Amino acid sequence: MDPCQAAVDSCIDCGKCGEVCPISMVSDNSTYTPDSKIKLLSKIAAGEALEKDEFDTIYLCTRCGVCDDVCPEHIPISDIIQHERELLAEQGREPERTKHIVSNILEKKNPGGFDNSKRLDWITDDLKLSKDADVGYMAGCWVAFKHPEIAQATIRVLNSCGIEPRILEEEQCCGLFMIDNGHLDEAREYAKNYVNYIESLGIKQLIVSCPACYGVLKFQYPKLYRDTKFEVVASIEVFKQLIEEGKLKPKQIDGTATLKDACPLRHMYDVPREILASMGIEMKEMFDKHTVCCGAPAGVKPNYPEIADAIGMLHLQKASETSGVMVTYCPFCLYHLEGVSQKSGVEVPMKDIALLLEEGIK
Ligand code: SF4
Ligand code: SF4
Repeated sequence: MDPCQAAVDSCIDCGKCGEVCPISMVSDNSTYTPDSKIKLLSKIAAGEALEKDEFDTIYLCTRCGVCDDVCPEHIPISDIIQHERELLAEQGREPERTKHIVSNILEKKNPGGFDNSKRLDWITDDLKLSKDADVGYMAGCWVAFKHPEIAQATIRVLNSCGIEPRILEEEQCCGLFMIDNGHLDEAREYAKNYVNYIESLGIKQLIVSCPACYGVLKFQYPKLYRDTKFEVVASIEVFKQLIEEGKLKPKQIDGTATLKDACPLRHMYDVPREILASMGIEMKEMFDKHTVCCGAPAGVKPNYPEIADAIGMLHLQKASETSGVMVTYCPFCLYHLEGVSQKSGVEVPMKDIALLLEEGIK
């Protein structure tokens, strides 16, 4: 019997996971609920043929983890889905686009297949960066290639507080897509090389702009490889601390905004809200004390764009109904939601929190 089967069998069919799952929010297909996904384990482990809906549901998961948070039986639902994907990959049954993105990461060091030699092109002459500081900075793929202004704003804010971090000249993808899709052996090797490289620079603290990279370096690498000798901190944690210490004085904006929470930082629910409160921004929540994934991660956007877009639209509609202005702190959420906004014509102004803070130091 598969080692995860006992956990699957402990499901009491309460339906709580389906109430919070972003996929279930935009689809009434009963095969797409989180509990239905994990109940396919025995079939997958036995190598049995899957119906189309059954195959799709395994890959219709952003691995946001909110189902894990609410399951009364503490079933590690998102890890079981990862395991099902691992089995399907071993059996040669994963989607072609998933295979392609994994090869991009292994060969080009980023999921989008971008030219990795351009990863640090966001660095402008005005940014003060150290060559030997023990505080490092990692932008992450979606900042480096799609939203470089987030990295620039972050460094300017840090510089204004006297922090001049060291850039990782050999920065690479954190490997989250491989982890989400069960390519654990490749991800382990990747983690090992990257951790050893960062430690070889003498980095003691690594400030990370992308919440996904934060989650991987802080929580996944220790599971895949070992604890890192450097501390991993999210840029929003650093911003909040600098504000509390009086080193960073945010510009008063005195308006309302809604906040797109990032799934890997959902346990830091109050941190971005306190930063916005320090600017005089009144929060208008889209969802009631609960994080809803943007719909793009873990292969949903490339494999099922219509579902990813429907979840994105849910956010745009909620934002329009609440404040009409959205603050983000994840570059991938921003990239996805801006794309949905452009395609749909539903305009919601969006801005990363680092850019709001940058306005205060101009
Ligand atoms: S991890 Fe997120 S997307 Fe996947 S089943 Fe759970 S709630 Fe749904
Ligand atoms: S929340 Fe847990 S126990 Fe309830 S249906 Fe989902 S997996 Fe089963």
